Amino acid sequence: MAEKILKKEELDDFVARLKSKYRIYAPLEKGGEWEWSEVEQGKDLTFDFFNSSLSPKKFFFPQTECLMHFRNDPHEEKGMLMEAEAGLDQPRLLFNIRPCDAKALTVLDKVFERDEESMDVYWKDKREKTVLIGLACTDPCPTCFCTSVNCGPHHEEGLDVLQVDLGDRLLLRGISEKGEQLLKDLDQAGTEDSQAAADQKKEAEGSITSGVEMDRIDSRQTLEVYDQAMWDRVYESCINCGTCTFYCPTCHCFDIQDETQGEYGRRVRNWDTCMSWLFTHHTSGHNPRGTKKDRVRQRFMHKFKYMPIKLEGSIGCVGCGRCTQRCPVNIDVRDVVNSMNEEHVE
Ligand code: SF4
Ligand code: SF4
Repeated sequence: MAEKILKKEELDDFVARLKSKYRIYAPLEKGGEWEWSEVEQGKDLTFDFFNSSLSPKKFFFPQTECLMHFRNDPHEEKGMLMEAEAGLDQPRLLFNIRPCDAKALTVLDKVFERDEESMDVYWKDKREKTVLIGLACTDPCPTCFCTSVNCGPHHEEGLDVLQVDLGDRLLLRGISEKGEQLLKDLDQAGTEDSQAAADQKKEAEGSITSGVEMDRIDSRQTLEVYDQAMWDRVYESCINCGTCTFYCPTCHCFDIQDETQGEYGRRVRNWDTCMSWLFTHHTSGHNPRGTKKDRVRQRFMHKFKYMPIKLEGSIGCVGCGRCTQRCPVNIDVRDVVNSMNEEHVE
């Protein structure tokens, strides 16, 4: 893997070259929050932020997404006419995506691109047309626990390029072939810069002191964890607001609706949440997750028990800490997962 160097004063030119091919997005500050926004010039980029408020999953799985348009003309001989929504018309580049958010996309690849038969073409189109230039974390938040869920502050999975901020310069490591191509005109990094990046990785990993114990969850029977008494305590404070699911980079529940006006209509997919009673409400009136306890338990069991079993060991969490930061009643995912290990079965 080639390691290259880019002086920050040259960032503007580098971004200008990329813009001839890509639409570029990055976390930019807006009203005290870091929001993914379109980048006009390299000097708008900043490297001193924890993480974006919302994860970049919206670039691949938008909050509201049109899947197809249709027209039902009674006079039309062909009956119902349907046309799929067109794919992306220009390739995109996400600059400064954090390693946890890039790893989350690889988890979702296993959901949306599982096999040819159930392939989600909308997801696949956006994934294929987007390049990811990551930014390693130098100063993880107190709520981060990526190192205990197969990720880390310098994790490379899912990225095309990983950048390490060395003050007045950036070390850029090409991970994929696409990434190496983007860096081909830059200068080779020297031994000192590579060593500085390696030292920074060690320090960042060492600064993450909290975590979850996945080994113990993995080794326990599913029903043993499902039936624990601790769920009675956890669910009580939850208000089922769904905030944790909307901020989470790996949550992917959705609902599909047809919106019609006269003979025209469109089919849209909207984010949904397993925390909502309505999400599992059947037309018959039956609801398999009719109680708050059922719904809270589902979110944690799905991420930490069912997904690793179904997705060849992939945990449905990358330890970004957003749910803990945003929960209005202070439910901390680390406490819940560690309780899944510790408490007695009833
Ligand atoms: S953010 Fe907190 S209160 Fe809201 S649904 Fe999630 S766990 Fe429950
Ligand atoms: S469950 Fe929480 S910590 Fe884990 S990926 Fe989702 S938001 Fe981040």
